[in-house]
Amino acid sequence: MIRVEGLWRTYQMGDHELHALRGVSETIEDGEYVAIMGPSGSGKSTLLNLLGCLDSPNRGRYLLADEDVAGLGDDALAETRLRRIGFIFQSFHLVPRLTAVQNVEMPMIFAGITPSDRRRRAESSLAAVGLSDRLGHKPNELSGGQKQRVAIARSTVMDPGLLLADEPTGNLDSRSGAQVLDLLAELHAGGRTLVVVTHDPAVARRADRVVVMRDGEIVKRVRGEDINDLNGLFDISSEDDPSKQDMNTAREGDETKAVVPEKPV
Ligand code: ADP
Ligand code: MG
Repeated sequence: MIRVEGLWRTYQMGDHELHALRGVSETIEDGEYVAIMGPSGSGKSTLLNLLGCLDSPNRGRYLLADEDVAGLGDDALAETRLRRIGFIFQSFHLVPRLTAVQNVEMPMIFAGITPSDRRRRAESSLAAVGLSDRLGHKPNELSGGQKQRVAIARSTVMDPGLLLADEPTGNLDSRSGAQVLDLLAELHAGGRTLVVVTHDPAVARRADRVVVMRDGEIVKRVRGEDINDLNGLFDISSEDDPSKQDMNTAREGDETKAVVPEKPV
């Protein structure tokens, strides 16, 4: 189970404070599929990054399977990310000079897994996402959908119980997006807890539960099956149009952090 209580994340911007999260509390059961929605800038990525131990709150508690991780130091956070959490980003965050299979091997290098085991597990992880014929391709030799599938293989190769995805279909055409969603649904059906930030009602409909954020707070909770369209769920004004505005706001450095701890653990 995941429980966050009174999470605040505040950025000091010159002489004023920007509150990206204002006391967020939420409980997510093991095996739940939760979608996070809300206008651009409402704090979705900030919350996901905290859940992913990529960032620490200024205030509040984060219990991951009964362990308080809000107060852990960098090394312990890196270890938690490595063993227990898989992260999937809108822009894939693959290492460009490495092949697909080498990208998937990355987390296992830091986990101290032997080269032959690494290769075997990376290949089977890529087979599970239908990419056995692309092992030696580098990211720029892959389509967007294929890149995201490599990223999914990487995020699951350590068999984490918790998968986090920040707009995983945001850069994909609808067909590749649907493939990625099917893979995520499969991983969820296999027993993993899944938290997905999305603007897409089709994604949210697949979730058990949808939490809607606004201005750093959770303002609504609905069942996924009750989502028909965005009308009434939250008002997207034109300046909040996600297709124009929402840069995946994962902070610089997050991509390597999510995959590669600062030092071997
Ligand atoms: P969302 O993912 O919902 O679009 P974010 O969580 O990325 O929103 O951002 C929430 C708010 O926090 C925004 O106002 C954003 O500008 C601000 N913010 C996010 N990251 C930083 C940062 N590293 N420094 C300063 N402000 C940030
Ligand atoms: Mg975001």
